[in-house]
Amino acid sequence: MATVRASCPSCGDVETTTRAVQVLRCATTGSAAYAFVCPTCRLRVAKEASERVVRVLVDAGAAVLSWEMPAELDEPRQGAPVTHDDLLSFHLDLLAPGWLEAQVATLRAVELGP
Ligand SMILES: [Zn+2]
Repeated sequence: MATVRASCPSCGDVETTTRAVQVLRCATTGSAAYAFVCPTCRLRVAKEASERVVRVLVDAGAAVLSWEMPAELDEPRQGAPVTHDDLLSFHLDLLAPGWLEAQVATLRAVELGP
């Protein structure tokens, strides 16, 4: 178990161990970061990591967590992006008595067809 010098945004330079460091690697984009819990303030810190830093941490025994971007990101999108006003309007609609039930009934009618 090797000692790792890292930087906490609250405490500055701290020392931790490879056991407390996790390498986070996105298989889709190839980007990587490392994360650790600051041994002084217990804040969880995550920072981007270059390939060289990743290699050093992995060679020293840090655990690696890999993930892929969700497939939904590749789905075609239609319409304008959702705005804060859209979310507020939707929130108010959900508060209106019977609005959700009416929407479900409309969807069922469309599913069943004429
Ligand atoms: Zn700290």
